[in-house]
Amino acid sequence: MSLRELYQEMIVDHGKQPRNFGLLPEATHCEMGYNPLCGDKITLYLVTNNGVIESVRFEGVGCAISVASASLMTESIKGKSLGEVETLFQAFHALLTEGAERDDAVLGKLAIFAGVAEFPIRVKCATLAWHTLKAALSK
Ligand code: ZN
Repeated sequence: MSLRELYQEMIVDHGKQPRNFGLLPEATHCEMGYNPLCGDKITLYLVTNNGVIESVRFEGVGCAISVASASLMTESIKGKSLGEVETLFQAFHALLTEGAERDDAVLGKLAIFAGVAEFPIRVKCATLAWHTLKAALSK
């Protein structure tokens, strides 16, 4: 199996069985995001404490890439400081929109979305959860 196929399989897996899916009644931050180009919708719930993401869950409907991206994002940011989350956001955004070189040390599993950069229409699907996260944290 090629790396590309492995990445594709991970996206399909997270798209079908998203992690951290559901409500988070004790959320300190909540934000909805919408990608009109594809119809992807997400509601993101966060609990932050002392500048750390303590829990995160999401609900929503959308294409496999948007759901997989939200699922992997929740896994990547849980337990991280807001500073670390900002670094992740920048690296992910640069990877998808600026053709930046993959920094696997920073991105970890998120690097599987590198191939999405080749499909501009899909970039919005992959970054929806992240823009929603930014909006949630800015409140
Ligand atoms: Zn989509």
